[in-house]
Amino acid sequence: MSNITNEIKKRRTFAIISHPDAGKTTLTEKFLLYGGAINQAGSVKGKATAKHAVSDWMEIEKERGISVTSSVLQFNYDGYCINILDTPGHQDFSEDTYRTLMAADSAVMVIDASKGVEAQTRKLFKVCVMRHIPIFTFINKMDREARDTFELLDDIEKELGIATCPVNWPIGSGKAFKGVYDREHREIELFSDTQKGTKMGEVKKISLDDPELSTLIEEDALSLLEEEVELLDGASAEFDQELVSKGELSPVFFGSALTNFGVETFLQHFLSMTSSPLPRKSDKGEIDPMTEKDFSAFVFKIQANMNKAHRDRIAFMRICSGEFEAGMEVYHMQGGRKVRLSQPQQMMASERKMVEKACGGDIIGVFDPGIFSIGDTLTTSAERFCYEGIPTFAPEHFARVRQVDTMKRKQFIKGINQIAQEGAIQIFQEYNTGMEEIIVGVVGVLQFDVLKYRLENEYNVEIRMDQLPYEHIRWIENTDIDLDKVIGTSDMKKIKDLKDRPLLLFVNSWSIRMTLDRNEGLVLSEFGRS
Ligand code: GDP
Repeated sequence: MSNITNEIKKRRTFAIISHPDAGKTTLTEKFLLYGGAINQAGSVKGKATAKHAVSDWMEIEKERGISVTSSVLQFNYDGYCINILDTPGHQDFSEDTYRTLMAADSAVMVIDASKGVEAQTRKLFKVCVMRHIPIFTFINKMDREARDTFELLDDIEKELGIATCPVNWPIGSGKAFKGVYDREHREIELFSDTQKGTKMGEVKKISLDDPELSTLIEEDALSLLEEEVELLDGASAEFDQELVSKGELSPVFFGSALTNFGVETFLQHFLSMTSSPLPRKSDKGEIDPMTEKDFSAFVFKIQANMNKAHRDRIAFMRICSGEFEAGMEVYHMQGGRKVRLSQPQQMMASERKMVEKACGGDIIGVFDPGIFSIGDTLTTSAERFCYEGIPTFAPEHFARVRQVDTMKRKQFIKGINQIAQEGAIQIFQEYNTGMEEIIVGVVGVLQFDVLKYRLENEYNVEIRMDQLPYEHIRWIENTDIDLDKVIGTSDMKKIKDLKDRPLLLFVNSWSIRMTLDRNEGLVLSEFGRS
């Protein structure tokens, strides 16, 4: 077996998602601690600073305290090379999360034990389920008063429509938290606060049959555990690796990232239950990283302004096969020409580094002179192919946008187009009224704020935004349609996308049905294609 295949086999590439404050940053930091990538957790923490140490955030993130953009971290642990993809913790950016998940082979969902699946992030977690990749649940903050364990599991199953399988089970919570019971090995991992989690600490385990147990855990807690485990064995799904791999069953772990408890156990199980990079679909069939020797990758994210000093743009790509070397020339399928991948970078622990080499499973960011779009394929293979595209989400909020100063039309168009290319917004035009008016569609309203902020700060263009009442968008699939002849409802709006494809905007789903009824043969689709 070649060296490179061995390297790819070591890769575990996953996305981490959570509601803000559930503990994603803390957990990520603890992973790095176990991986030896940082020496002491907490040293860089203190909320605000920690986040900025790990990645560069836009000003707006600082203002709002949420992560808008995603970043990537790499570290080694126990012979594995792990890539963590961070995702925005706000539902308004769930499309970004979806794209990031496209680059991941599995996902870790961090849930606050006192809160369960929170309403605002339901959508975020749902996009995870939509990808059909393995999902692992880490129920965090067990050192705080938690909700009933069965209730928490029920919540996940109901909200996300995915079965759960607790790998371990908590004994109490908050001040009464004693540890977790490992169902497979029938032993208890005792909770200890490891210097507030700054050091790794020793894991103390004790068998359920050990007589010493009664001196460590109160009888009441033990009998409750016994009862719960009995109930659990009867009621919950059994562990089934195949279902986990298909994303239909989520292994659940309990712990406390802050105190390090349960973090390493989780990491070990997680690594053994996930696979190395798997084959990916392309228009030439599946590309298997184990047999495809040539380099191939696809762009899943484009980020502007990571470096304020020069207005650069970075295209993040997931390498699917082969080896990457800095400065190499690859064929850009969508551009139809060769490009040199320059200034490749990767995040290692807390710093950004230039990468010399990377391989299948890895994520790299390369300098983008404005040629890449989301979903683009790059390869050195003589047999050209394109990876399956990344679908765009149907926007749910629309606004008419114009620049305040008419002299700044050029900057305005440039800025809005670039931001659209990054996938942060989608732009449309009025049908029949020429270029003057631009209609912006977003998945989450917060994206409007980002647009306004970025146009002002990066392009020096002030804009006026009038929100429109539409909530539904439909692309017209019929290629031979005359848009003038489509009879809609009075509150329907005809628009077109940048490729002149006709679209309809509706205020409610009732109008969609009505329009379908009135126009025989009309085929509407919820998804746009890039
Ligand atoms: P994120 O927004 O999901 O990245 O959350 P953070 O990792 O920044 O954590 C949010 C807050 O919860 C911070 O103040 C953490 O110190 C705290 N926190 C994280 N994990 C735990 C935990 O296991 N127990 C307790 N008590 N607090 C935690």
